[in-house]
Amino acid sequence: MGVKTYNPYENMLLVMDQAAERLGLRKDDYEWLRYPERELTVSIPIKMDNGELKVFQGYRVQYDSTRGPYKGGIRYHQDSDLDEVKALAGWMTFKCAVVNIPYGGAKGAVRVDPRELSRDELIRLTRRYTTRILPLIGPDQDIPAPDVNTNGEVMGWIMDTYSMFHGHSVPGVVTGKPLEIGGSIGRAEATGRGVIIVAMHCLKKMGLDADKLTYVVQGMGNVGGTAAANILYQEGKKVIAVGDYSGGVYKEDGLNIPEITEFLDGGKRCLKEYESEGILRLTNDELLECKCDVLIPAALENQITKEIAEHISAKVIIEAANGPTTVEADEILKERGVIVVPDILANAGGVVVSYFEWVQNIQSLAWDLDEVNVMLEKIMLRAYDDVEEMANDKNSTMRMGAYMVAINRICTAGRLRGGPISMA
Ligand code: GLU
Repeated sequence: MGVKTYNPYENMLLVMDQAAERLGLRKDDYEWLRYPERELTVSIPIKMDNGELKVFQGYRVQYDSTRGPYKGGIRYHQDSDLDEVKALAGWMTFKCAVVNIPYGGAKGAVRVDPRELSRDELIRLTRRYTTRILPLIGPDQDIPAPDVNTNGEVMGWIMDTYSMFHGHSVPGVVTGKPLEIGGSIGRAEATGRGVIIVAMHCLKKMGLDADKLTYVVQGMGNVGGTAAANILYQEGKKVIAVGDYSGGVYKEDGLNIPEITEFLDGGKRCLKEYESEGILRLTNDELLECKCDVLIPAALENQITKEIAEHISAKVIIEAANGPTTVEADEILKERGVIVVPDILANAGGVVVSYFEWVQNIQSLAWDLDEVNVMLEKIMLRAYDDVEEMANDKNSTMRMGAYMVAINRICTAGRLRGGPISMA
């Protein structure tokens, strides 16, 4: 294994520092925001089906709570580590501030490849992890949600474990739950729907006709495949290439996305196994560099590196994943005139509908799909316009604009609370 050079937390700090400087803040004004408020590392011992004991490592980082309770997903991934979770928790803080919902930011992870666990092992892992982070979470404290390789079912197990310890049902402790136990209609596809709302708004503002463009999606999970690619397809857009961890597939006149989604069967199969007449195979790099108008990275961090950025042919990148573009790559894309709609704006639809779910849980109410989608669109478009206005005002990229909107809101809240800034 090579030396790990990419550190997402440092990547985030670099961007934060630049944005704070552009806003005219002194180091003392925001230094506190460069550190997570709380970091928890836990051990998760579980009995495997063969009787053996295995100990996994897990994390929950509570980055900032100035604007409200901590909020953010939990991912299951073999490469997760504390620096990744710190970055993801920071990004959640900025994301919630950009869309102006009353939350701070947090993130959790378990270092595990869930494909190697049976369902029973996964349940035991989830329950034990929940007990480890139990003192930190709660509907007024810190509200987890799905992320990479977790879903509504996993949220149900977390809610159940938390509720058992409290002796009564506490649906508001997690969002992204199944509908039957207090989930919100529209939550499962909300991140992808938000990505498309923002993408269409951006293309319109650029004077491009979305129906005549070609789209490429990297990632066939809940955000990329199930939602974004499928919504594009339903709206008659041409998705010419998609990819997952096994590689990509390409078809010049457009792929049959519903057929691919059905084939993948919620992650039971991968794209390498998919066969269809006229498709070409792509490597991950070829997928990202392939000739198209709109590129939607919807997988993991550190995908658009400086090497890839030099060869990207898309005019617009909509970041559905968290942290897909490195700082160096961002510079190159800026020079090359590629518009990047940043993650903390583009993929905020998930946490926006998580917020609706939490509000419904508190009020013991259930909204209908129309209410959810209308409110989602309103919030996403308002956030886009706030970011664009800031970017125009400060003559910066959309990423800088988004960070400036976020830092401004968080620091203002900090001042109003008489917090670290006033104490300085
Ligand atoms: N994991 C999602 C994200 O990165 C959703 C978080 C949430 O709903 O709390 O935005």
